[in-house]
Amino acid sequence: MKWFLIACCAVGVSWASPIESPRILQPKEEMGDDLFEGDMDLTEEQKNSLFDGLVDIRTGLLNEKYRWPNKTLIYDFAEDVNTEQRDWIEKGLQNIASNTCLKFVRRTTEKGYVLVTTNSTGCSSNVGRRGDRQLLKLKNAKLGSGCFKFGTIIHEFIHALGFYHAQSAYNRDEYVTINWENIEPGHEHNFEIRDNKTTTMYDLEYDYGSVMHYSATSFSVNGKPTIVPAQDGVVIGQREKMSDLDIERIKRMYKC
Ligand SMILES: [Zn+2]
Repeated sequence: MKWFLIACCAVGVSWASPIESPRILQPKEEMGDDLFEGDMDLTEEQKNSLFDGLVDIRTGLLNEKYRWPNKTLIYDFAEDVNTEQRDWIEKGLQNIASNTCLKFVRRTTEKGYVLVTTNSTGCSSNVGRRGDRQLLKLKNAKLGSGCFKFGTIIHEFIHALGFYHAQSAYNRDEYVTINWENIEPGHEHNFEIRDNKTTTMYDLEYDYGSVMHYSATSFSVNGKPTIVPAQDGVVIGQREKMSDLDIERIKRMYKC
C-alpha cells in the first residue's frame, strides 16, 4: 500500500489520464540512434562495464568518481546558445537547485565541466561527471518544445548528475510490461534491465512519474505502446518537472 500512495502522489497531475491513449510527452529528439538508451553518452569504461555485467544500472550510479564534488555541477555555454536559451536553461538549473542541496556554477577555470551546446541533432548527455569537458546537447527549438522542454533540460542535467532512466531499474518488470514486438528493430537494447552492483534506487520505490522515465510509445515501430504500466491510470514519460521521487533520489545521491 505504501508504494501505491507514493506513486500516486508522484505522478500528480498525470493521474487522471487514461493509459489507453498515451500522450507522447517525451520529445522524439531524446531518442537518438547513436547513443545508449537514446540520449545517454557513456564513457568507454561505462559501456564496457555495462556489457560485461559489472555495472548495475538501477538508476543512480554508485561509483563516486562520476559524482560532482562539493555538490556543485560546473557548466558553461557554447557560443551557439543564445541569451534567451541560456536564461531558460538556468531556470531549469535553479529548479533543481531549489529542490535539492545542489549548486550549479558557471565555469571559470575548472577542468571538469558540462558544456551546453545546441549544435546537435537531438538531446543528449553523459551520465555523471567525466572529469573533463563533457557536452550536453540540446538541439535548437522554441523554448518549451523539443529539447527545450523544461523537463527535458532537467532530464539531461539529471543524467549529468549521475542517473540513468527510470525503467532500467532492476525490479521494473514488477511495475511495467515491455512489449518487445512493438519496439523498432535494433532498438531493443534501450529496454534492457540492469543488475544491481553499481547503481542504487536509494531504497525508493519505482517511479512512474519520473522525469527520467520513457513514455509509453518510446521507440515504437507501429505507434502501439512499448511500455505498459502494471498499475492503471498512470502516465509515464512526463517531461514537465521532477517528481517527488526524482528529487529524493538526487538528495540521497548527493547526501543533502
Ligand atoms: Zn535520457
